[in-house]
Amino acid sequence: STYTYSAGPGMLPKEVMQEVQQHLLTFEHEGISIIETSHRSESFQQIVDSLEERLRRVMKIPENYAVLWLQGGATLQFSMIPMNLRKRKRFAYVDTGIWSKKAIKDARLFGQVDLLYPRIDETGEMSFDLSLVQEVDYLHVTLNNTIEGTRFTDIPETNVPLIADASSNILAEQIDVERFGIIYAGAQKNIGPAGLTVVIIRRDLIQSAELPSYLHYASHVDTLFNTPSTFSMYVAERVLKWIEDCGGVEAMERLNRKKSETLYTFLEQSNLFSSLVSGKRRSLTNVPFTTSDSESDRRFEQFARERGLHELGGHRSVGGLRASLYNAMPIEGVDRLVEVMKAFEEETYV
Ligand code: PLP
Repeated sequence: STYTYSAGPGMLPKEVMQEVQQHLLTFEHEGISIIETSHRSESFQQIVDSLEERLRRVMKIPENYAVLWLQGGATLQFSMIPMNLRKRKRFAYVDTGIWSKKAIKDARLFGQVDLLYPRIDETGEMSFDLSLVQEVDYLHVTLNNTIEGTRFTDIPETNVPLIADASSNILAEQIDVERFGIIYAGAQKNIGPAGLTVVIIRRDLIQSAELPSYLHYASHVDTLFNTPSTFSMYVAERVLKWIEDCGGVEAMERLNRKKSETLYTFLEQSNLFSSLVSGKRRSLTNVPFTTSDSESDRRFEQFARERGLHELGGHRSVGGLRASLYNAMPIEGVDRLVEVMKAFEEETYV
């Protein structure tokens, strides 16, 4: 079998892809594709409604939160958030890596940014000192650091709105929505195809602001403001159905724990490969590792590719190797990876 361990776009469930392929030209009538269907049509509206209902069910999103389906990726949220939420024009950001830094860079265009750095205790758990959070409009955290392979397992209670970038762990592990003011994510890892961004926002945070209309959250509440990424929304609705059929986010998390533990356990006992992260902060979805030298990392990438295992290179900024194990990666994909790693190890030591 062939698997792709890409950090994004990630794998989508095979069953969903086959269903999409089969129905591509028969959406409304024989010969009419979902891609050609108006976003104002009744049949598309049914998809939007079902998509939102399913997301609300699997994430337990209460009614006082709006769900927005935007474009521009998680990256556009780096600026939309400070633009829409600035009152004091002061924000707090926990700097946990490359994606946090990009969010911080954009926020600086709209106000003062107070930086917090994560502390790591003896168990490897990541936390931060809330006493450093002053009079800010919000506190921003990246829940799962896609590139570094780390995640927060616990976030302290705070009295300012907590904003979470959940791009690489949304739907992969349970998130207590009510603890957050905004949760946002690019769709292309666990939700559906690229081109779609979900923003789950507590309604009281949607305020009036002098902004270009697309960039104002209020424009998007309970309505399709402009032509959305219709095809991606259609596929996302099918992916959410698949998640519900599999037992919901609880079942996804259970499977993701099993998958990542299988790989971490191998990395612990391997003589060649090692994990780049230790302890409780290890991500369930992104596992960076190395053979400890970049030349043999590249050789392993090639070795794996020849055996149908793709996209195992680390992020261009950190190098090494990385396996992303999003929801649609079956446990067989992890077992196969471990098998190929063992074969490479044996070949290296003969
Ligand atoms: N934030 C995190 C944690 C990510 O992993 C990514 C993409 O990989 C982004 C933000 C950027 O997302 P997008 O490409 O949708 O703008």
